[in-house]
Amino acid sequence: MRIAVLSDVHSNLVALDAVLDHAGRVDAVWHLGDIVGYGPDPDGVIDRLTEVGAIGVRGNHDAAAIGGDEIEHFNPEARAAMEWTRETISDASRRWLAALPARRAEGDTTLVHGSPRDPTWEYLTSAPIARASFAAMATGNGLYGHTHLPMAFTMDGDRIAQSRPRDGERLALATLRTLLNPGSVGQPRDGDPAAGYLILDAERLVATWHRVPYDVAAVQLAMRDAGLPPRLAARLSYGV
Ligand code: ZN
Repeated sequence: MRIAVLSDVHSNLVALDAVLDHAGRVDAVWHLGDIVGYGPDPDGVIDRLTEVGAIGVRGNHDAAAIGGDEIEHFNPEARAAMEWTRETISDASRRWLAALPARRAEGDTTLVHGSPRDPTWEYLTSAPIARASFAAMATGNGLYGHTHLPMAFTMDGDRIAQSRPRDGERLALATLRTLLNPGSVGQPRDGDPAAGYLILDAERLVATWHRVPYDVAAVQLAMRDAGLPPRLAARLSYGV
């Protein structure tokens, strides 16, 4: 079973389509939340994820989009984009977002947006947080997003190792507990503007990270036309 794992699409349909195209034939699409927010095409992204039968979890932006008080924690630009998103999305999109659970388990893998300990808000960025997350997780493996940074934590006995996988990098999962972040499809923040995701080969137990360039200028134009904050468009050029 070949699974495309996506996170933090953030209403960026051009990036999502580039990633789905790059992934080719897959048996499943799993997403880790923050489907909407920041970008210009929330309904388009939700329609596409529905089409491909994606399953996943709710991020803090998704919770805010359906009226959650998560919006109170946003910086002014994220908040402006969220107010635009709230006014723009269809009732069907709102229902789709509202149906997302905060966490879900697929076999021996837990899916969350933030961390297994705090699925909505915690940023899983360090070995101590990873250790607490492994302890809070009932499954052997976990997939998370939220930081917009491709990352892997492995636990071998008591030892935690951390890495920042680059394009094409593979990780064998067989004997380890793992917490893997595919990076962000729609707003990468590691200095590389290309969309990030990973492929999970559930039979061979291998994860492979990928980066996919997409038409950033087209998205920036759509953001300008929508009246979204210019800085949110500009950052897509730099992957920050
Ligand atoms: Zn996000």
